[in-house]
Amino acid sequence: MFINDTICAQATANGTAAISIIRLSGENAIEICKKIFVSKNTNFYDFKSHRIYFGNIQNGKNIIDEVLVSIFKAPNSYTGENSVEISCHGSAYICSKILELLIDNGARIAKHGEFTMRAFLNGKLDLSQAEAVADLISSNSKASHSLALSQMRGGFSNIIKDLRKELVNFASLIELELDFSEEDVEFADRKALTNLLDNLKYEITNLINSFAMGNVLKHGIPVAIIGKPNVGKSTLLNSLLNEEKAIVSEIPGTTRDSIEDILNINGITFRFIDTAGLRKSDDIIENIGIERTYQKLNQADIILYVVDIFETSVDEILASVEDFKQHIENKDKRIIIIANKTDLLMKTPQHFSDLLSLEVIFISAKRKENINLIAETLLKYVSTDTNPDKTIISNLRHYEALSKTLDSINQIETGLINGIPGDLIAIDLKKALLHLGEITGEVTNDEILTNIFANFCIGK
Ligand code: GDP
Repeated sequence: MFINDTICAQATANGTAAISIIRLSGENAIEICKKIFVSKNTNFYDFKSHRIYFGNIQNGKNIIDEVLVSIFKAPNSYTGENSVEISCHGSAYICSKILELLIDNGARIAKHGEFTMRAFLNGKLDLSQAEAVADLISSNSKASHSLALSQMRGGFSNIIKDLRKELVNFASLIELELDFSEEDVEFADRKALTNLLDNLKYEITNLINSFAMGNVLKHGIPVAIIGKPNVGKSTLLNSLLNEEKAIVSEIPGTTRDSIEDILNINGITFRFIDTAGLRKSDDIIENIGIERTYQKLNQADIILYVVDIFETSVDEILASVEDFKQHIENKDKRIIIIANKTDLLMKTPQHFSDLLSLEVIFISAKRKENINLIAETLLKYVSTDTNPDKTIISNLRHYEALSKTLDSINQIETGLINGIPGDLIAIDLKKALLHLGEITGEVTNDEILTNIFANFCIGK
């Protein structure tokens, strides 16, 4: 790792803004800054750590901008190195001029995530905390924010470190036994070992199982609105979005180029999948029709099946729901039946009351009646599963490492049951320790680091 040079980058987003911040980190950060900064304070003597100085950034006599410079001396900085943050006016021209000056004076442009990678390499945070920094930056809901924040503050890392400690205990018992193998004694009480393994398995399985929820909280819950043409799907979607003052936005980082509609209810994000299709003409929907519906069924966690109350019979609805269930791979999916256009009727038709054994919500999308019931039902499906005290994992890399750890633990257990020699058990133990260590970065390699930090922005 090249960690001796000094790196610089714009930490704020590109474009015009009130201010922008340029970051500088490395052994010579403060020296380089001194070369281009002229203080406005006549008593200015030298930079002190954790102070802010007002002055000009100058190229010789040529003034580039009036700025504030914040100084952080090693090791008390984000990266653990000497660091400087230059707050300048938010013009792309000024930023590029300042960066140019920094480079001319010995710094180089940082790579993606290099500031955070240095923080990790200098022991300021572990790997899972570093990953949480990226999640925190991209969090766009209360749920994804609190997940990332608790991971960044080390809650999850501590759990992993405790699990690893237990495994190390286990390993030392086995090692002890190996040392005395000639004498045919068992130091490691088999019952204690099995208890320890059971406990580890229980904890790791809970974490693995939390991934589905973690993923949902981080990325939002995919919801599909399906139904025949003209039943009011688009009208319903618009009503839902207006009702909840939704944040309609393009989700950065998704590969699709269509805009997804996002509904944020009480901090939980719902993503209406493939809604671009809803807006196309009904002909197209009919053409692509059934195949597309099945696709959507399988992409979504929650399905809103919209029917026109005026035109649909109970039998037809029941038959469709049965048909959907046949085409759903994951049987846990929730189907909510939305009976629309109640405004066209004087009262709810008798035949629909038979349907109440299924979940039916009667609405008028056009008049925005009972739309809140849909929002409440969506939320009900999630909030029953979330417990604020539970540790939830949301990172695929952690999920994979935990799954591999569990595999190794299962093998250790089978080994114990079958009386396999201690040295073979020790091999599986090493594997389990390795996989757990990968999560926090106690065990790591260049490839893992490069993969993780490549997803960061430059300047972070
Ligand atoms: P989609 O093809 O399922 O997306 O249906 P649209 O949302 O485009 O609606 C089809 C037609 O039904 C439009 O003329 C809407 O104004 C009308 N519509 C939708 N919801 C209601 C409703 O609750 N009541 C009434 N009376 N008409 C509705």
